Amino acid sequence: MSIIRTVTAISILFASTTSWSAEEVVLYTARKEQLVKPVIEQFTKDTGIQVKIFTGDEAPLIERLKSEGAQTPADLYMTADAGNLWYAAEQGIFQPVTSKILEKEIPSHLRDPKGEWFGLSIRARTIVYNPGKVQASEISTYEDLARDKWKGKLCLRTSKKVYNQSLVAMLIATHGEKKTEDIIKGWVKNLATDVFPDDTKLLEAIASGQCALGIANTYYYGRILKDKPDFNARLFWPNQGGKGGVHVNISGAGVTKHAKHKENAIKLLEWLASAKGQNLFADVNQEYPVNPAVKPAKEVQAWGDFEQNLINVSSAGRLQSAAVKLMDRAGYK
Ligand code: FE
Repeated sequence: MSIIRTVTAISILFASTTSWSAEEVVLYTARKEQLVKPVIEQFTKDTGIQVKIFTGDEAPLIERLKSEGAQTPADLYMTADAGNLWYAAEQGIFQPVTSKILEKEIPSHLRDPKGEWFGLSIRARTIVYNPGKVQASEISTYEDLARDKWKGKLCLRTSKKVYNQSLVAMLIATHGEKKTEDIIKGWVKNLATDVFPDDTKLLEAIASGQCALGIANTYYYGRILKDKPDFNARLFWPNQGGKGGVHVNISGAGVTKHAKHKENAIKLLEWLASAKGQNLFADVNQEYPVNPAVKPAKEVQAWGDFEQNLINVSSAGRLQSAAVKLMDRAGYK
């Protein structure tokens, strides 16, 4: 009798150990490991759920998810840019998720209308200028950068980068293709020099005076500012006062179609959207929280508030191929 009791006690202990070790979630992410790991470690501390992280480049990760199919160990796929999230959804990577918490914490324009992916941080792609070359009072909108007054003064990053494809896609969502093509042609006509391979080189060219102004994501500016507080460039928030707002994009994630730990994957998303998760996730890259109740990091707050574009960011994906073709027609390399 006493032996049976002992055996029962052991098997219960065993069962609870097994279920504890099964508390895990597997994350594939195209974001850099240093932007994800410190945040995820806090999630594990708070919940006891272990997270296995696999990092990789965008295209190979999508290919891997597709080739693994139903066998994939991935529960979540995370990446930057709504264009990339939209593409992953088109490839059948995600499943729709319903969560009252995610719907409450994340404004509707920053998540997929079908619930397949959710924005977790906001990146603002705004105008940056050299204060020795231009006054802020001379700048107004993205559209205005097409006017003759900026001839030989504008610098842009390559149109091959998804950030610019999304920006142009959102302009198409606002103005239609015809007017957007005129705007992009105007930008190209005003270029001071060849397009830049990345935002950092573009910002350095603005600070050095090679260009008077350009368009970049604010966190690249923040990274430079950390090392060089006297960096000779400033941010400008365009399209304010009911003129469409600053172009914003997201980094985000969705639950995979074949997730083995769906509940834990949703828990991780909900935790990332919470105040604690938002502060860590947005601050680590000097981005903006998606949760409107959460303030950005102090150094980011110092750049001031702005009205953001409220068109659903899924338009960046829906109109991506139209944007790529349009930029090609307009001669934007
Ligand atoms: Fe980036």
